[in-house]
This record gives sequence, structure tokens and C-alpha cells, in this order.
Amino acid sequence: MTDDREIRVRFSPSPTGMFHVSTVRTALFNWLYARKEGGAFILRIEDTDLSPSERYYETIVLEGLRWIGIDWDEGTDVGGPLGPYRQSERLELYEKYAKVLTDNGLAYPCYCTEEELRAVREQMLAKGVPPRYSGKCRKLPDNKRRRLETEGRKPAVRFKVGNGSIQVNDFIHGPVTFDAESIGDFIIIRSTGMPAYNFAVVVDDALMKVSLVIRSEDHLANTPRHILLYKALGFDLPQFAHHALLLGPDKTRLSKRHGIAALEVLRAQGYVPEALSNYLAWVGGGLGGTKEVLSRDEMVKAFDLKKAGKKAAVFDQAKLCWMNAAHLRFLPPEEVLGYWLDMGVGRILRDRKRLLEVIPVVIDNVETLKQLEGLLEIFTEKNIAFSMEAEEVLRADHAGKVLTALAAALEPAEAPGSKEAYQDIVKQVEVASGYKGKSLFMPIRAGLSGEMVGPELEKIFCHLDKSTLLHRVDRALSYIATQD
Ligand code: GLU
Repeated sequence: MTDDREIRVRFSPSPTGMFHVSTVRTALFNWLYARKEGGAFILRIEDTDLSPSERYYETIVLEGLRWIGIDWDEGTDVGGPLGPYRQSERLELYEKYAKVLTDNGLAYPCYCTEEELRAVREQMLAKGVPPRYSGKCRKLPDNKRRRLETEGRKPAVRFKVGNGSIQVNDFIHGPVTFDAESIGDFIIIRSTGMPAYNFAVVVDDALMKVSLVIRSEDHLANTPRHILLYKALGFDLPQFAHHALLLGPDKTRLSKRHGIAALEVLRAQGYVPEALSNYLAWVGGGLGGTKEVLSRDEMVKAFDLKKAGKKAAVFDQAKLCWMNAAHLRFLPPEEVLGYWLDMGVGRILRDRKRLLEVIPVVIDNVETLKQLEGLLEIFTEKNIAFSMEAEEVLRADHAGKVLTALAAALEPAEAPGSKEAYQDIVKQVEVASGYKGKSLFMPIRAGLSGEMVGPELEKIFCHLDKSTLLHRVDRALSYIATQD
């Protein structure tokens, strides 16, 4: 920071639908920065464009943030000294500051209609000139203004933009210069009375004493407007940090087209918050170093905003999967179980104690929570379904012979659930059936687990009781019998 102001950052989403992972990443950068620097993290909701029926999107954002492990020091639900933290509850403030600007001759009412503005815009485009407001209402004589008022036209309020250049000293990009000329007078209050984003954001950031504005690069072009407003209102300028965007594998902005844009989607696919936050902070280089899988505390320590935002980050689901698998192995079984139960109804009926016992047995074999389902069933259900691959193995000629030998070896075994007992039984089956290697192990795996991938056979033996093992072999043999 260039000054000694208290460090205060904010995340200010406009909740208009699903919670986009790019937006989650911006929240995460703000949060990591605040926690690293010991500053305050504010959550402000930009909802002036929302209809009442869209209010529940705010809940989606809050819920999503909590899930991914982001907490906030000030916000709509927790309050704080500089609230309210929802823009729709701050309308008088925008009115008040817009009046300051109009009273000082720095803003003026604009009566142009949408159609008039569109027509001028099209003319400018046709002439090959970058479109901007013509300044028509700036010079409107008082009598004309009064006439439009009596006609009932509701004006918007426009800010007067002068000449010269405006410099943004960006924390990530360094100095970036904009030409004021190209901006044109812009709307600060719409004709509906609602503030425009460019205005509300300045009033809010200034009054909430935000010291560093961290947001995505697409807002860099808005920043000269913000700087002009800060200066016109006599507010202290914050610092700005515009981070690069998150892209899809085809290097275009990550969107629904890529099938992975929403936090909810990734959550439903079985990613855990520890891994997703780690991935979003890591992709693009924000965590530096050689260690990739980090706990939340390690992430806070390692986070470097300058590195995090410099280059465009390409979302790679295979890498996220890998990171998820790594985190799943680190997490205590209670937490894995909690996340897994959260994913679906009905699971709550399962035996919790048993699930906690078998999660460590299967965790090395999964990359996402979704894959856990089939593997846990191996240990929690008596009857298991055979996958297509398992059925194919069971249909092979020798499978019946192997499984009949297995049943015979299991019958007299007192407790097959040990490493030694397992090795002994397999040996007996090998001798009795005359098969070894894949021909021996594949039918056993298919019959006992119903899956051709999953935990090692030894683990399956060691975590199932004798009656279940026998029951499974019988079912597999019955299946084989129906295939003849
Ligand atoms: N509501 C804006 C957005 O979601 C916030 C931009 C900003 O951080 O200033 O893009």
C-alpha cells in the first residue's frame, strides 16, 4: 500500500444467477489478501438492478461463500459500522452525493430517451467514431428543461467529463493511462432513480473506507470514470488491483458453454471446498512456490496478489480433479462424510459408524465425492449391482470355475478378514481352478465388488464378513447361471 490507511477490501457481487467460479475467484483473492495482511473483508451486495423475485440469488452467494470457506467481517448478515451493506438500502446516499455533484455544476439532468441515444450511437458508429454521449443535455437552456419536465420526462443524471488524461496506478498492471475525451459524460443516476454501477461503487467504496479495490480486469476500463468521481466528490482514492480473467480451455472467458461455470455445478460434481479454493487461488500463479496442495492457512501465507492477477488463468478440470483427490486424502473421514452426506438426500439413513470405517479404505480410489458412492456400497450394502464391465468379466468361460473354487475355499475359513487368510484363500482358488494372474483376480473382483476398478482385493476381503463374501459369490454364480 502506498499510504498508511487501514487495509480494507471488499467483494461486491451483483447476484443475478448461479454463482460463477470467476466471481468466486475474485472473492477468494480479496479474502486471502485481507487475511494475509490482517485487514477487513467486506461483503457488499450490489442489487439495485434486481427485481424482488431475484432476491434469493443473494442467498446463493452467501451460502456459496460460506461453503468454500470464506468469511467476512462486515456484510448484509453480520452488519458492521459502515453499513447498510446492500445497495438497495443505500439509495438516499446516492441521491445525496448526486445532488452534491449537480449543485456544484459537475453533473446535470439528461432527458434523452433510449431511442434518441440509440439513434445517435448508430450515427456515430456509421461514421466510424467510437460512440459516446453527445453532450446534448449539458447545454440545455432552462426553458427547454422546464418544458421537458412538464411533459413528464424523467431525467437521468449525467456526470460531466472534462478533457485530458486519467491515470490508473494499478497494483497489478502498473500505470495505465486513459483519454478522458473517449469517455463522454456518463450516467450516474438512471431515469428510474436508481444509481448506475459506476456511481454507486464509488460512493460505497469511499464511505466504506475501502483501501484496495480488487476486482477482475474487465472493470479496468470503468476505473477512469471512478477516479473522476472520487476527485469530484473530494474522496480519498483507494488503490486498484485488476486481476486477469479465468478462461476456458479454448482461451475464451469461462462460461456456461464450458459446462463448469457455476460453483453449484462443481459442488454437485463432488469437489470439496478445500480443493476448489486451493485450485482457484493456485491457477494463474497466485500461490507461487513448488508446493501445490495447500491448506487454507498455508494458502493465506503463500498468497501473492501481484502474481495471482498478472496472467490469464486457464481452467483445467483435470488438474482440479487431481487437487481434489489430494485433498480428499488429507481430510479427516468425518469431514469427507459430512460433504458426501450434503450431496444427497437419503444417505443419512446409512450406518454412520460403518461409513466412517470404510471411507479410509476407499478414499485412495476416488477423485471426487461422486465416485465415492459406488465404492462405499461395496462395504455397506449386502447386494451390490454389477457394472457392465463386471458383467462382461463374469460372462467369460472360466469365471464360474474361479468363483466356485472361491466359494469352496471360503466355506471352511473361520475368519477370512486378514491379510494372511486372504492370501491363503487366493492360493487355494488358484490351485483348485488352475487359473492365475488376471484370469484369477478379475472374476473374484467382479463377483465381490461388482466393479472392475476400486480398492485392492485384499482390502475388500479384510473389510467384509464371511457371510457377505459368500453371499456375493453366490449372487455372481447365479448371474453366471442365467447367462448359459
Ligand atoms: N457488481 C460488480 C460485479 O459483480 C462489482 C464490480 C466491482 O468490484 O467494482 O462485477
